[in-house]
Amino acid sequence: MTHCIFCQIISGEAPADVVYRGLGVMAFRDTRPQAPTHILVIPTRHLSSIGEMQPGDVDLVGGLIATAAKIAESEGLHQGYRLVMNTGPQGGQTVDHLHVHLLGGRQMTWPPG
Ligand code: AMP
Repeated sequence: MTHCIFCQIISGEAPADVVYRGLGVMAFRDTRPQAPTHILVIPTRHLSSIGEMQPGDVDLVGGLIATAAKIAESEGLHQGYRLVMNTGPQGGQTVDHLHVHLLGGRQMTWPPG
């Protein structure tokens, strides 16, 4: 059994509130939502972080962002939303499986914490 919680969600070993499944991409609701809509969009192939990206992964990451935009539309986030990719410990990354946070449904502030 893999130790990666997101890989466990992909394989069905761990539960998740799945909102989207596509070719090489999956999305589910964050269990500790930081906004009324908080969805994680992940590749179904394990990749630790943006820092581990290879040149051939550019389309994969582009696909995650395009998927997040599609989900934002289906979630009714017409007023806007925020996409976040925390990278590494100082970037606030706590799960070492590449993911895009889709946050929406409230006014976002800047600078982020
Ligand atoms: P990050 O801190 O950027 O690595 O984001 C990881 C996110 O994954 C956090 O917002 C967590 O709340 C979320 N998370 C951790 N475990 C689960 C899980 N089993 N199902 C859904 N979201 C999770």
